[in-house]
Amino acid sequence: MPKMGGRAAKAVERRLQGVVASEGLATGTVFLLAAQERTAGVAAATPQKERRRLKRAMEAARRDIARLIAKAPEPESAHILDIQLRILEDKALIGPVHAAIAAGASASQAWNATVAVDEAVEAPPDAPYLAARDSDTRDVRDRVARLLVGRGPAAPPMGAILVADDLGPTRFLEIDWSHGGGLALIGGSRSSHVAMLARAKGVPMLVGLADTAALIDGAPALLDAERGELIVDPPVAERAAFERRAIAFSERTGQIALYLPGPAVTANGERVTVGINVAGPADLDGLEPSHCDGVGLVRTEFLFQGAGRPPNERRQFEAYERIVQWAAGRPVTFRTLDGGGDKPIAGLSPENEPDPFLGWRGVRLSLRHPAVFRVQLRALLRAASLGPVRIMLPMVTSPDEVAAVRGLLDKVRRDLKTHRIGFGKVALGMMVEVPAAALAIEEFDADFYSIGSNDLIQYTLAVSRGARDLEGLARPDHPAVLGLIERVVQHGERTGCEVSLCGDMGGDPRYVGRLLDLGLRSLSVAPAALARTKATIARFSSPQP
Ligand code: PEP
Ligand code: MG
Repeated sequence: MPKMGGRAAKAVERRLQGVVASEGLATGTVFLLAAQERTAGVAAATPQKERRRLKRAMEAARRDIARLIAKAPEPESAHILDIQLRILEDKALIGPVHAAIAAGASASQAWNATVAVDEAVEAPPDAPYLAARDSDTRDVRDRVARLLVGRGPAAPPMGAILVADDLGPTRFLEIDWSHGGGLALIGGSRSSHVAMLARAKGVPMLVGLADTAALIDGAPALLDAERGELIVDPPVAERAAFERRAIAFSERTGQIALYLPGPAVTANGERVTVGINVAGPADLDGLEPSHCDGVGLVRTEFLFQGAGRPPNERRQFEAYERIVQWAAGRPVTFRTLDGGGDKPIAGLSPENEPDPFLGWRGVRLSLRHPAVFRVQLRALLRAASLGPVRIMLPMVTSPDEVAAVRGLLDKVRRDLKTHRIGFGKVALGMMVEVPAAALAIEEFDADFYSIGSNDLIQYTLAVSRGARDLEGLARPDHPAVLGLIERVVQHGERTGCEVSLCGDMGGDPRYVGRLLDLGLRSLSVAPAALARTKATIARFSSPQP
C-alpha cells in the first residue's frame, strides 16, 4: 500500500494504470484509505461482558446498514445491503466467534481472528460473484471490528480521489459523492458490488491500480476512468485539457443537469457564488430561483431600447419589482443603463459618433443625462424596499464617476424622503471593464466590483468584440487580461469588498478553473451556462497551500 506522508518538493507527473470499472473523469487530491480503517483487537474482560460487547456491535452494524438502505435511492444499493444483513445473521459466522470468546479471547480478537476472509486466495476469473461475496464479508467484518473498538470510519475530504486496497459497499455508500471525486482500487473487480454502486451513482472508478508504492496522500490527481489511468501531479496544461474532457463527458452522459439544483461547490468543498445574467423579467420565465445565488447582472439598457424615449419611473419600477420578487430574497444586481457602443439609445446617444465603443457609453452617457439617470435611480431605490438590491455602474473609467453617482443617489434619497416614498438600502458597485479602472482599482470608492470580461478583453487587447474574424485574438487567458483580473481580486481580498465576474468568460468551462485559481469565488453567467458552470466548479480543487 502507498504511503501517508509529506509532498515532494518538486512534483513530477506520474501515470498509474488501472482497469475502468465505472466510466467518468474526476479531479481531486489523493486520499489513501488504508491504514486508518484497520483496527487492532483489545484486551478481554469476562466472557459474559465480551459477549454483550459483541451483541451491541452487531446490533449497531445492523442499524447502520438499515439506515443506509433507507437512504439509498438506487435499487442496486438496497439489494447489496440486504446481502450484508444476511451475512450478519449467518450462524456459521457467529458460532466460532462465540467459541473463541468462551476460550478467553476479547470480542474484538475473536471477531478479527475468526471472521477472516482469505485475502491471499483470489476468486477464479469465471466466478466473479465469489469476489463480490468476499468483498461484502470483508465490509461487514470491518464495520463490526470498528464498532467493537468504538472507532468511526475515516471521513475522506469532499471530492477526494480515494485510493484503497479494496472498499466495501457500505463504506462506499457512507461517503458523500455529491461533490465529485472518484475511486481507485488496487484490488477490486469490475463485477464487485462496489463497482456496481459506482456505476449506479456515476462515480468514476478504476480497479487493479498498478505501481502505487510511491503514491502520497494529498497529491493532486486526475482520475481518468475513460482511458484507465490515475495521473498524479499533473501539469497545469494537462489539468485544463482534462477539465474540458470532463465537461464534455458530463454533457454526453446528461450528468450536467444533476448539478443545477445544488449550490456551486469546488471538489474540495469551497462554496462559489453563481448568479445569472438577464436582460429583463422575461428572461426569468421557466427559471427556478433556487438554482442560482441571485441575479448578478440585469442589463437594464434593454428596457430603454425600442420605445423611442426612456421608460418612465412606473414602467421601470414594475420591471425591477418583478425581478426582485422572482429572486425571493436573493440579491439582485441592477446595472444602470449601459447605452452606447453597440446599444445606442434613441434620444440619448449622440448621432454619428466616430467610435461608439470609445465614446458616450455606460455611466458616461447616464451622467450626461442626469434627469433620465435620476428616474432610473429612483425606481431602483424604490425596488430596494422589496428585497436586496444592488446598483452597479457600467464602463466606469475614473473615480469621479462613482463619486458623482453617490452624490446623485443622495439627492434622490432626500427627494424620496421629502415625498414620503418608501425606498431601501443599496450597495453601489462598479463594473471593471476598462483597463484603466483595473489598473487604478485602489482609487475607486465602490462597495463591490464585477469584472466585465467581455469589454475588458476588447479594451485590453484592442480587439473589437463584434468582429467575428478577430475572435481568435480575443483571448480571455491572455496574460494581460488575467493580470488585470488578478489585480482586482487581490484588491477585493485586501479591502473585504466582493469581486465577481459577469462576462462570458465566467460561463466558459475553458476558463472557469483559471478564474478560480486567481481567487475569484463569485461568478454570474447566462442562465443557459448555469449547470455547466456548476459542474466545472465541482471538478475544481484549490491547490494545496
Ligand atoms: C462585459 O463587458 O463583460 C459585460 C458583462 O457587459 P456587457 O457584455 O453587457 O457589455
Ligand atoms: Mg460590458
